[in-house]
Amino acid sequence: MLALAIEKFGTANQKSEWLPKLASGEVRGGLALTEPDAGTDLQGIRMTARRNGDNYVINGAKTWITNAVEGSCFALLVKTNPEAQPRHKGMSLFIAPKGPGFSSGRKLEKLGYKSIDSGELIADSYVLSTDLAIYGRHRVLPIRLVWIRAPLLADLLEFGMANELLCVFGVRLVNFFLRFQ
Ligand SMILES: Cc1cc2nc3c(=O)[nH]c(=O)nc-3n(C[C@H](O)[C@H](O)[C@H](O)COP(=O)(O)OP(=O)(O)OC[C@H]3O[C@@H](n4cnc5c(N)ncnc54)[C@H](O)[C@@H]3O)c2cc1C
Repeated sequence: MLALAIEKFGTANQKSEWLPKLASGEVRGGLALTEPDAGTDLQGIRMTARRNGDNYVINGAKTWITNAVEGSCFALLVKTNPEAQPRHKGMSLFIAPKGPGFSSGRKLEKLGYKSIDSGELIADSYVLSTDLAIYGRHRVLPIRLVWIRAPLLADLLEFGMANELLCVFGVRLVNFFLRFQ
């Protein structure tokens, strides 16, 4: 999902930097949306990115993130303008590699599907360049939910991921997909 977001909405630099690493497995990606108090209603997320010059400083926590422990880079959904109305207008998606200030928390126990980890991600004064905002430098992304495209679902089925994604996002991924406007 990280690769898909970059491929669809990333800058030329982001694509040349990250897509080969994701394709080769050098970088193991993930999608970090869910928070302890925000699952289905993503507008309720509290992870906040505050602008500081050419960087953002990010604080908050994600939970139930697939690959949180073994993964190395995430499409990270944050609030860049917590006061925005409607609330989804103040949200942005970043390419967020693990590093100082951004690491995994607990690995969560599951009844089944143990072949891939699910866990927490913690951002503690995590500094990210504006260059890592998906959709280009200095642009803050409003996001909206739109109907998932049939070809994407077919791709997921082909790669055997549909079962996981249906489980992970329930109705949300069947019916909706993230898109930037
Ligand atoms: C194994 C696993 C892996 C996961 N991996 C990821 C991941 O990689 N990245 C990530 O971001 N998240 C991940 N998640 C989190 C998952 O996407 C969330 O659990 C999901 O979004 C639901 O959120 P919630 O559990 O808070 O449920 P809630 O939002 O509390 O919803 C609970 C129930 O209420 C229903 N509901 C909610 N709002 C309404 C409404 N307005 N009207 C009617 N019904 C409603 C929902 O459909 C649902 O059935 C994972 C979860 C699991 C279990």
